[in-house]
Amino acid sequence: MAISEFELIARFFGRPGAERAEVVVGIGDDAAVLEVPPDRMVLVDVSHFAVERHFAADDPPASVAHRALGGALARVAARGAEPFAFTLALTLPNVDEPWLEAFSAALAALALRQRVALIGGDTTRGALSLTLNLQGLIHPGELVPARGAAPGDLLFVAGPLGGPALALLDRLGELRLPKAERDAAYHTLHFPEPEPDLGRALAGLASAAGALDDGLCAGIEALLGGTGAGASVHLEQLPVDPVLRPRLHQAGGWNLLRDGPAPAQVCFALPASHQEQLAARLQHTSIRAAWIGTVERAGGVRFLLPDGSAL
Ligand code: ADP
Ligand code: MG
Repeated sequence: MAISEFELIARFFGRPGAERAEVVVGIGDDAAVLEVPPDRMVLVDVSHFAVERHFAADDPPASVAHRALGGALARVAARGAEPFAFTLALTLPNVDEPWLEAFSAALAALALRQRVALIGGDTTRGALSLTLNLQGLIHPGELVPARGAAPGDLLFVAGPLGGPALALLDRLGELRLPKAERDAAYHTLHFPEPEPDLGRALAGLASAAGALDDGLCAGIEALLGGTGAGASVHLEQLPVDPVLRPRLHQAGGWNLLRDGPAPAQVCFALPASHQEQLAARLQHTSIRAAWIGTVERAGGVRFLLPDGSAL
């Protein structure tokens, strides 16, 4: 490589990041050292992204950073944890300085907004890929399970749906969006970012939660996973991304909401008795959690149109 690994790390990954009291030794040493508060557990999320599999070689580098870290942040939040530190293992075919500059600047900005510290990583040469290891803190007993929603629980979605699916339709050539709409839709696809305090809002309250990588329907099925319970979801209650709203009643609009990927959005089930506590916590955040339906004894997920008929 034209510049040494040491220079590369100092230049692209040495930006001052989020200050976290838990980080005793951060980036630049042989190994990072973390001090976990005595009353907390650590949750670990690992994600691997490979070129041509999870992203295209010509995707905007800022978006590659965002999709890797943004998705991980949503998954950690869904467990009710507070993300605090991450590592980055990066494999690069060559030192493409403009690519690295855009990638690392976007990664650092997102990490700062979300108060997570980049504590280290490794860099090697090869086909472009990255592995992110994001850690979150959680009080024992407050972990939110991935499945186990029970009949009577209320279903919520945090964050708007449908933007990424609209961009994917444009990319497939199934739709021709005017420039401004196109940019707005692609922004939701390329720059997923969950609400920073979501994990702490759900901790100990939600009965199950998950990020919506595979869309809302699959997300709800996962919450119910194996319990035999089902759910009714009211389509008109779904939070619609502003870019999709004017097109919602065109062919496929509701389907985009039901099945479109929304990796930064989290769906969760809440026992009705926890509703007031959740509302009190959300008051001091920018999180918008929309009630969308209810878990029921009868199996299957029913999506109901405004007139009460099933989609
Ligand atoms: P080593 O010789 O132990 O492999 P390196 O020279 O690879 O150490 O890394 C030096 C420091 O930079 C370490 O703190 C390491 O964690 C960090 N680091 C290396 N690559 C990255 C990367 N892609 N992102 C973040 N930190 C990195
Ligand atoms: Mg190394």
